[in-house]
Order: sequence, then structure tokens, then C-alpha cells
Amino acid sequence: MEYSARLEAQSEELSRTAAQLREANEKLTALSIQKDAFLSQISHELRTPMTSIRSFSEILRDGGDMTPEQRSRFSGVIHDEAQRLTRLLDDLLDLGVLENGQVSLRLETVPLSGIIDRSLSASGAVTRMAVARDPAREQVFIETDPDRLSQVFINLIGNAVKYCQAPDPRLDIRVRHAGAGLDIDFVDNGAGIPRESQEVIFEKFARVGDPDAAGGAGLGLAICREIVHRLGGTISYLPGQDGAAFRVHVPLRQNLSAGLAAQ
Ligand code: ADP
Repeated sequence: MEYSARLEAQSEELSRTAAQLREANEKLTALSIQKDAFLSQISHELRTPMTSIRSFSEILRDGGDMTPEQRSRFSGVIHDEAQRLTRLLDDLLDLGVLENGQVSLRLETVPLSGIIDRSLSASGAVTRMAVARDPAREQVFIETDPDRLSQVFINLIGNAVKYCQAPDPRLDIRVRHAGAGLDIDFVDNGAGIPRESQEVIFEKFARVGDPDAAGGAGLGLAICREIVHRLGGTISYLPGQDGAAFRVHVPLRQNLSAGLAAQ
């Protein structure tokens, strides 16, 4: 009896180990598939600008007689594509550092209005769209990494500038207290993001519509999500607004003991 009970226990233990091994194997396979997909995306993203640079430099080298305008146009394309490559590599490196948790935050207590001012200037929004703000609500002090939080805002505002095609483009920046933090909403009056893409938009390389027509590589919102998480907050898409609407929720104070910001 004792012997059979021991045997049964051993057999249960064996099945548990087998199940764990199966699970680990499935996870490894999923990771390997993810890695392959990521590498193939990166290769695609790098190949497009590289191909333009190679073709246009060959035209410049072998193209015979060319007007100064043609020469200038072709070298302009090479310059723009090289810039796109640099941006892509910078974004990939930044995302890698953020995902590995190797980023150190520089926390300060600053007025939210200053971070919004700075982000609006850096994204060039003020001259390209009407911006509505609520100065009274922005006069709140927040403990955060101002450089990283403005990187998020610049990305969201920059996207509104890039993608909002309304004849009278407009961006509303709304602030309100929510729990122990702030909700900061960025709402434009463009076409917005279709319902089926709202979930995936924060994933790496996610783009809506024709991927080659869009300006970026689809890394901006993935970077925003990583930064906001590091800052102990969340970022989400708000459905049901006139255009695209993003909500950033950040705590007013960093809870270092929770280890969220102490990377
Ligand atoms: P990208 O570098 O392509 O701009 P993002 O991750 O910042 O990458 O954005 C992902 C995609 O989400 C964009 O390619 C675009 O299709 C869509 N998107 C982002 N912001 C907006 C917006 N304000 N209005 C409409 N579409 C947007």
C-alpha cells in the first residue's frame, strides 16, 4: 500500500515535470517565432531606405549629364533616407534599452505646464494646428522624469501633426486628476484609428493603413508605452472621440518603494 502510494506520488511528480517541460518548450518556441518576426520586420524596415540610398547614389555616380536641380533632388532623397535610417536605429536602440529595464530615470518635481510647453515647441504643433489647453489645470506639480515624459508627449503631439488631415486641424490637451495621478488626454480632430487597430497600435511596428505611405516605422507608440510604464503609469487609446485620442495616466508622485521607477 505504502509502495503503491509512493509510486503514485512519483508518477504525479513526473507528469507535473513533463507538463512544465512542455510549457517551457512552448514558451521557447513562441519566443523564437517572435524573435524571427521581429528580425524580419527590422530587415524590411532597413532594406527600404537602404535600397533608395543605393539606387539614388548609383544614379548620381553613373547617370551621366544631369541638371543641377536633378543632382540636388537625388542627393536630397539620399539625405532624407539616411535620416530615416538614423531615426529608426535610434528608436530601436531606445526601445531595446527600455524593454531591458536598463534605463535610469532622472526624477524631478516640475510643473506639468512646462513639460507640455516644451513638447509643443519641439513637435512644431503650434504653427500647424490649433491647440486648445487648460492652463489652470496644467499648473500642477508632478514628480517624474521630465525628459522621458516630454518624449512621450512629443510623440503623441507629433503624430497628431503627422496624421491629422482635417481641413482645420485641432488638438485638445485635457488634464484632470484621477486617483493618485493625472490623466492627460491628447485628442485631435482627424480620422482617428479604426476600432480593429486600437488594441494593437502600441505594439512594435504597428501601423494603420498602407505601411509604406506612413512616415514612421511604427515604433513611436511602443516606445511611449515602455516609458509610461517605467514612470508607473499607463497609456491607452480612447475610443468614441471625434478623432484620434490618447490618454496618458501618470502618478503625481513616484512610489519608489514599489520599484516602478527605481530602475
Ligand atoms: P509611426 O512612427 O508610424 O508614427 P507610431 O507607433 O507613433 O508609429 O504610430 C503607429 C501608427 O498609429 C501610425 O503609423 C498611424 O497609423 C497611427 N496613428 C498614431 N497616431 C495617430 C493619430 N493621431 N491619428 C491617426 N493615426 C495615428
